[in-house]
Amino acid sequence: MSFEVPDLPYSYSALEPYIDEETMHFHHDKHHAAYVNMLNGAVEAAKKLDGKSVEELITDLDSVPEAQRGAVRNHGGGHFNHSMFWEIMGPASGEMSSELNTALLDAFGNLDDFKAEFHKAGMTRFGSGWAWLCSTKGKLSVCSTANQDNPLMGSKYGGCDGKTPILGCDVWEHAYYLNYQNLRGDYISAFFNVVNWAEVSRRYSETL
Ligand code: MN
Repeated sequence: MSFEVPDLPYSYSALEPYIDEETMHFHHDKHHAAYVNMLNGAVEAAKKLDGKSVEELITDLDSVPEAQRGAVRNHGGGHFNHSMFWEIMGPASGEMSSELNTALLDAFGNLDDFKAEFHKAGMTRFGSGWAWLCSTKGKLSVCSTANQDNPLMGSKYGGCDGKTPILGCDVWEHAYYLNYQNLRGDYISAFFNVVNWAEVSRRYSETL
């Protein structure tokens, strides 16, 4: 059994003008595919990992043999992060659940203040990484990780122990450079226009 790049749940041009079609082709067809290929190579080299989901792999990196741990962290993280990224975006924003709306207000006061904190998390991540909105049994917080680390990973692997990401924004240059060049802030602001709140709400409900 090997991992595969999931199809986009919408067309490559569906997120225009906020995320351009060419970026989506490179990002999904080349970058995500490379993570999947490298992850498959690592899992093939460590038979005990066969049959585990990518979420299981990245959540328990201690159980991955040391020889493959770095590859599973980077490429398993890359596969998991991008699979989530495609799903939490969309051409339609969907409806935010009342549970998520209430939790956002409880944690941040209002939606604009949440966006400002999320934006800052993406802007202050030096180099490559991700900005996240996480739930800890329903309580929301914002964080960021480096490279392809994910909040689900233990803190010694760059994660955030116990936090479940429900929304993530890729701030690697490959996610925005064709359209936004050096203007990461403009890209993160545009990202909010393509968030699929119905999907984020569904993911939130699973953390309660
Ligand atoms: Mn990416």
